Amino acid sequence: DVAIDVEDLRMRYGATDVLKGVTFRAHRGEVLVMLGPNGAGKSTTLEILEGFRLRSSGRVEVLGSDPADADELWRARIGVVLQSWRDHGRWRVGELLDYLGSFYVPFGTAEHRRPWDVGGLMELVGLTDQAGSKISSLSGGQRRRMDVAIGIVGKPEVLFLDEPTAGFDPDARREFHDLVHRLADLDGTTILVTTHDLDEAEKLADRIVILGGGRIIADGSPDDLARTM
Ligand code: ADP
Ligand code: ADP
Repeated sequence: DVAIDVEDLRMRYGATDVLKGVTFRAHRGEVLVMLGPNGAGKSTTLEILEGFRLRSSGRVEVLGSDPADADELWRARIGVVLQSWRDHGRWRVGELLDYLGSFYVPFGTAEHRRPWDVGGLMELVGLTDQAGSKISSLSGGQRRRMDVAIGIVGKPEVLFLDEPTAGFDPDARREFHDLVHRLADLDGTTILVTTHDLDEAEKLADRIVILGGGRIIADGSPDDLARTM
């Protein structure tokens, strides 16, 4: 069962070809890591899959729809972890999650689509003790977990994480990896994570695709790839 299907994706900025025919798939319930150096085009790929950016050419399907012309129901099934919530520092953790969750209520007809109870969500991401704290008072690692909580508030079937552990120390990184594994175990959420860190890719991935020179240059399980490197 394929959740993300990308075939011959191309992206050109001005005269520069950043993606030159990218092809890969993610199956439902899989943690797929896209590994590649800075500037490889990972963010560009994610932004196209999220429907934020229009591609130059190629075929892209996420949950059976083309992100370029998907509807709001599709958007409600997709989770995106952004880092732009820091400015909402005056809000308290529980309060903001409760507020954002309310947007999904109209979509919550099926059992598994019911919005989170905020307590369960905070427990999942490890912010129970911070429920009443202002976002501005959270540590870096707590903020990133808050970013994730916001990204999954609508119980997405597909979750996109762009370089989620950039700037983390090893402890925060380990905690974050545990969180991704807990998310992956939730009703078969499909997770696409980008990183430039091979070690991180190996720790997180069911499968790794390596982006280089505008193409996927390797695709396999961490074990497969370890054997070829
Ligand atoms: P990565 O996430 O792997 O670091 P990006 O997708 O951010 O890679 O960037 C890939 C390349 O595309 C880089 O050379 C970057 O400078 C360029 N790029 C990204 N966004 C734009 C844009 N909006 N306009 C022009 N060039 C861009
Ligand atoms: P960061 O790595 O700090 O997130 P990025 O390099 O991804 O920053 O770029 C931030 C923003 O600038 C993104 O919207 C990206 O698409 C855009 N961008 C990146 N490179 C270029 C470029 N060469 N020309 C125009 N816009 C760019």
